[in-house]
Amino acid sequence: MSWKLFNTLTRSLQEFVPLDAGGKKADMYCCGPTVYDFAHIGNWRTFVFGDLVRRFLEFKGFDVQHVMNITDIDDKIIKRVRESKTSLRDFTSKFETAFFDDLKTLNCLAPHQTPRATEHIPEIISIIEKLTARGIAYKAPDSSVYFSIEKYRAGGHQYGQLVKLNFEEMRAGERVRSDEYEKEALADFALWKARVPEDGEVFWPSPWGEGRPGWHIECSAMSMKLLGPSFDLHLGGEDLMFPHHEDEIAQSEGAEVQPKGQRFVKYWLHGAHLLVEGKKMSKSLGNFFTLRDLLAKGFTGREIRFLLLQAHYRETFNFTIGGLDSARASLMGIDECLAKLRDLAGSAKGSAEATVVARFSGLLDDDLNIAGAWGVIFDWRRHTNKRMAENKIDASSAASALATWDKFDSVLGVGAPAEQEIPAELTALLDARQNARKAKDFKRADAIRDELKAKGWTIEDTPKGPKLKKA
Ligand SMILES: [Zn+2]
Repeated sequence: MSWKLFNTLTRSLQEFVPLDAGGKKADMYCCGPTVYDFAHIGNWRTFVFGDLVRRFLEFKGFDVQHVMNITDIDDKIIKRVRESKTSLRDFTSKFETAFFDDLKTLNCLAPHQTPRATEHIPEIISIIEKLTARGIAYKAPDSSVYFSIEKYRAGGHQYGQLVKLNFEEMRAGERVRSDEYEKEALADFALWKARVPEDGEVFWPSPWGEGRPGWHIECSAMSMKLLGPSFDLHLGGEDLMFPHHEDEIAQSEGAEVQPKGQRFVKYWLHGAHLLVEGKKMSKSLGNFFTLRDLLAKGFTGREIRFLLLQAHYRETFNFTIGGLDSARASLMGIDECLAKLRDLAGSAKGSAEATVVARFSGLLDDDLNIAGAWGVIFDWRRHTNKRMAENKIDASSAASALATWDKFDSVLGVGAPAEQEIPAELTALLDARQNARKAKDFKRADAIRDELKAKGWTIEDTPKGPKLKKA
């Protein structure tokens, strides 16, 4: 079945049809972190949503190319670098490393490419040159280069594709230098910001003098360089819709580098906000959490990911500590069911239960109906537990149930890490083998090794002693 998603560009549900003529490749760009601080749980909701989209595309057999940029130069970073009296790279590398550690903790698949803005200055300059050559960008008296909304519109382009804008209030020639501004402050925005004393040592040469790029042009340059001038999917949080994404469209389509009749991006997907304990996150309310704050409270990346995946991506989600406790209980229920199935299955093999997997993916096909998909999983678990309680599951149907879970989990990524999945009975066998070896009873030790092998496990010697690995 085909995947239907809500495209912000058309404000409607559309069937996903990739640009690739073979229908196999799907390219996606997700706006990545601005590495000026640790990402908070609201940011993580968006990144986990991006990971869900990527995993679902792969589940459906697409060959996905996932690009996520690192914003390592913008207004916020410049301010922090100045305050911390460090170099730009020293400052940003700390938060960049933390970001990738956190991404792993939440079991998000690593994007295929993670370009840094500071390493794409020539590509950024090249787009600005195209825009100035077309008369859409101009150098202002402050030596910065701005994007002229009036000239862009006069060329037949539409500004205000993702959001409705009121041009009545706009005064021609009015400019905004800051990276972030409200819809009401609609004005020509900065592509290249001329060097000012507050920038310190952070600047690059350009045809318009020393300076640095505006935030919006960075994403246009990196996405088009790595995915081409026209690609399938662009994702981000709904707070990025304006001005960031609107400006990305204007810059990229204003440069007119797309093949005739093609857009910069075919499908725009936006994830909704997150509230914490019913309120907008704020440091003064004490409900502002980074991922690290939650880990320090004793929750795991799995539990946090599970909770973030409960709500539909277009709905505001209320994240609570109580919700994390329930997530823990739900995961324990799943783990218990899987542990019993593993005991029953032994080394038996089985293929996934096609009907239930089809029901699961059919719900996700409907604009990622995640609540429906979880419903299928919990019904499946109840039914499986019941069959086990009635002794109606043999080794091969247990293996089949495990294969079914693997299908679910390839999309959701909430399964327990492999180390925790070793049944107690096998650990006991491993201990028995160690004791036999110590007693120099090698015959028995080898027999146990063979027994483990028959159950589908191999012994791996590590510096911390022998460990079991699924063969
Ligand atoms: Zn971006």
